Amino acid sequence: MSNRRPLIAGNWKMNKLSADGLALAAGVAGRRRAQPDLPCDVLVCPPFTLLSEVAKAVAGSGVMVGAQDCHAKVSGAHTGDIAAAMLKDAGCGAVIVGHSERRTDHGETDAMVKAKAEAALAAGLMAVVCVGETLAERDAGRTFEVNRSQVQGSLPDGANAANTVIAYEPVWAIGTGRVATPEQAQDVHALIRAELAARLGAAEAAKMRILYGGSMKPDNAKALLALPDVDGGLIGGAALKVEDFWAIAEACA
Ligand code: PEP
Repeated sequence: MSNRRPLIAGNWKMNKLSADGLALAAGVAGRRRAQPDLPCDVLVCPPFTLLSEVAKAVAGSGVMVGAQDCHAKVSGAHTGDIAAAMLKDAGCGAVIVGHSERRTDHGETDAMVKAKAEAALAAGLMAVVCVGETLAERDAGRTFEVNRSQVQGSLPDGANAANTVIAYEPVWAIGTGRVATPEQAQDVHALIRAELAARLGAAEAAKMRILYGGSMKPDNAKALLALPDVDGGLIGGAALKVEDFWAIAEACA
């Protein structure tokens, strides 16, 4: 048991139109209101189009709203992009950066992820910085090396336990139904914490939350969340249903 407060974060990805999305947000907010003492923080990350409305729908419930990406620059000629300050303005408290789908679909490098995370911090948002190895990298015995170098390259300057969360998401476990074993997860989480200690000092690293992501579901959440260095979850598929998402939150109790 650590004294880090777990964070249960839902990544809705490119899902939900307004009616369904607002119903999901209202459902999560209702559960949070009904169980204010559940020992975890709760974050929902809808698509950009729903951020403002979801922020209004969950206001006062204790549920935090985050976005799934931001641009590294403050403003300017970047058609189609969204600045961190705009997310804050829309009611966000956090933003996911460096999700493997963005690293793959948009060629995001560690340097780009770091710049985005720094933009998030500058705007007063909490950065959820994602790292994780592919199956080929794991099979080649490169899991530790890849995660270490992604943390080194993606961690924003100015990171501390209050403004930054790391999400370890093995790419082979995202959306596949194939979850990391508790041992696989703990090994990488411990490695990440050691890397954070080297960068930020042991005391700050001991306070920083490291989430697991990759096919976390109600039936496997308890075992993952009980691991010494797992401080919550970044949840995709199971975040799209109130019952499943909340069952994972309840696994923190
Ligand atoms: C994710 O989107 O970050 C994720 C972990 O997805 P899933 O839970 O569906 O594997």
